[in-house]
Amino acid sequence: MNQKILVQKFGGTSVGSPDRIRAVADICIETKEKENCGLVVIVSAMGDTTDDLISLMDQITDDPFDREVDMLLSTGEQISVALLTMALHKKGQKAISFTGWQAGIKTESIHSKARIKDIDTSRILEALKENKIVIITGFQGISEEKEITTLGRGGSDTSAVAIAAALKAERCDIYTDVDAVHTADPRIVKNTGKLKYITYNEMLELAARGAKVLHPRSVETAKSFNLPLRVRSSWEKNNVGTLIIKDTQMLEGKHGVTGVAIDLEQARLSIIGVADTPGISYKIFSKLAEKNISVDLIIQSISSHNLAEVDFTVKKSDLKKAKQILEETAKELNAKSITSDDSIAKISIVGAGMIDEAGIAAKMFETLGKNNINIQMISTGEIHISCIINESDAEKAINLIHDAFELHKLK
Ligand code: ADP
Ligand code: ASP
Ligand code: MG
Repeated sequence: MNQKILVQKFGGTSVGSPDRIRAVADICIETKEKENCGLVVIVSAMGDTTDDLISLMDQITDDPFDREVDMLLSTGEQISVALLTMALHKKGQKAISFTGWQAGIKTESIHSKARIKDIDTSRILEALKENKIVIITGFQGISEEKEITTLGRGGSDTSAVAIAAALKAERCDIYTDVDAVHTADPRIVKNTGKLKYITYNEMLELAARGAKVLHPRSVETAKSFNLPLRVRSSWEKNNVGTLIIKDTQMLEGKHGVTGVAIDLEQARLSIIGVADTPGISYKIFSKLAEKNISVDLIIQSISSHNLAEVDFTVKKSDLKKAKQILEETAKELNAKSITSDDSIAKISIVGAGMIDEAGIAAKMFETLGKNNINIQMISTGEIHISCIINESDAEKAINLIHDAFELHKLK
């Protein structure tokens, strides 16, 4: 197609009611007219629909088959695409809705966290040629075995970016319920800085560490395709929000700390009293990997008599499965015991200029220490520092750290 293509994505709150759906239809129509473009729109399930579906499921079983979970959760997005398309028709626009498989979104054969492998864009392009606005369900695709898969909570952002990349779109706009990417979640920290620009790498770290304004894989995909990605408000007219850019496009140099994120979805597991011999970590973590459970922070310490303790964190949603696997491994390795704790939080600071600035880690630890907040685990990377703390300290900690680094001054 020679015409330029734009991709827009609207999150759950943005399409949370019939009035909101009509407002979104207006944004779509205005964009199409103003930009004279082919328009593809990805939509999330309305409001709390996905949570409501999960709670319905919980009332039926605590042990559902993964296939049926995806079958259930994928329905939320089907409601919103149909309603948005109807709203566009009512306003006299040509539009068509597609589910993930109708839009050609092919994924891995993994339920609940599948990655997109390929998109056959032919049906989307055909509809664009007919001058229709194409409305596609976020969060879902189809596996090689023709099973419905979902991409993980918040995954509609990734659907939008992947479709934009496949269509070689000019830009992907993520419309949401905040007006920009801020230096911290504005619902938890008052007086946040509102960022005009943030680099892909910083946004990726923030997203991966709990700032749910973007799904991490959406940022990863935008970065690898060098796709301009914007976060903006579905409410404020003419809001330009935040543009995610390359490091080299940052004119005023890199910030030591650009943002702070909190992740309440982590749980800690410990295996205590295992032999301190080569190959033990491999045995523990390969079994988790086989079941697609990813591990985040890991600490191994030696207690006494050549016995070690291995502590690590997983997603809360994986805790039950991970615990079962670890119990089996503990028996096999003759370990003393295992313990788990799901009342932890991970607090992280992120900044592309961190490597060049001394004392950033010290300041973070000092701030937590001075305020009697105990650090259980630490991990560091080139542009992030994370600490595991008690969940009950999380809100206080993020506010203190945001203040200590004077992040309200950033823009
Ligand atoms: P959507 O339904 O549109 O996908 P999400 O709830 O997934 O919206 O993401 C938007 C939310 O992300 C905001 O309401 C805000 O509470 C949260 N958030 C977390 N960290 C940040 C941040 N650094 N900047 C902006 N919003 C953030
Ligand atoms: N509806 C899904 C969720 O609530 C996907 C999304 O909103 O991005 O997680
Ligand atoms: Mg989201």
